[in-house]
Amino acid sequence: ELEVKNLSKSYGSFEVLKNINFKCFPKDVLVILGPSGSGKSTLLKTLNLLELAQDGELEISGQSFNFQQKINEEQKISLRKKVGMVFQQYNLWPHLKVLDNLTAAPIKVLKQNKKDARIKAKELLTQLEIQDKLDSWPLLLSGGQQQRVAIARALMMEPDVLLFDEPTAALDPKITNQVVKIVNDLKHTEITQIIVTHEVEFAKKIATHVLYLEDGKVIEYGDQSIFNNPQTEKFKHYLNM
Ligand code: ATP
Ligand code: MG
Repeated sequence: ELEVKNLSKSYGSFEVLKNINFKCFPKDVLVILGPSGSGKSTLLKTLNLLELAQDGELEISGQSFNFQQKINEEQKISLRKKVGMVFQQYNLWPHLKVLDNLTAAPIKVLKQNKKDARIKAKELLTQLEIQDKLDSWPLLLSGGQQQRVAIARALMMEPDVLLFDEPTAALDPKITNQVVKIVNDLKHTEITQIIVTHEVEFAKKIATHVLYLEDGKVIEYGDQSIFNNPQTEKFKHYLNM
């Protein structure tokens, strides 16, 4: 369970997020849509405390943060054990082969033993149909392959919440459909997924809930039915309706 209450954030005098509120439950896929510069990536980064807001509250899996109070490194590390993030640029560790990219953090952070971590990594790579690359260097993989390795690496941490920033940017339609399948398969787990995208067709295939942002404000928020029934002119316009 994840809840954001009255979250506001500024860069200097520029207010990038204005009084954001939403709530997610296990199995939800919340898609965040909005024009370029509307604050989508910034919002995602505040959810794992890569960026801090100035005001508001965040609650994830029973851990609460009030952004008016100081949040220390220990709290950030503890939160990030529960919140995985797959970035726009996949940023796998280039000096580690695929299998080691997956097992490094579980061994170091979760204190998993090496053998168990490797077994689990192989299972996930098989599930994502990329097991033949476990001994490859990340930079020699295609964009779509790197994307799947990045998803597998995030899943190794058994997160409660998985954040994706533009997971289909620069992917061809076939690979995009693989991402659709991965996201929809994860609906059978307890994981909450929050996905930033500007591809409406992709969003429609995966969303259980939708949050539409403009200029840092929530313009529309609801379940996936608002795709067919937008309530605001702004969201209608965005959807070309
Ligand atoms: P896109 O769809 O292009 O990725 P976005 O909705 O993800 O856009 P953000 O990256 O969240 O937008 O940026 C929101 C606004 O905040 C933009 O106007 C951006 O220029 C500004 N911004 C982002 N990061 C910083 C920063 N570190 N310092 C100052 N301004 C920033
Ligand atoms: Mg962005």
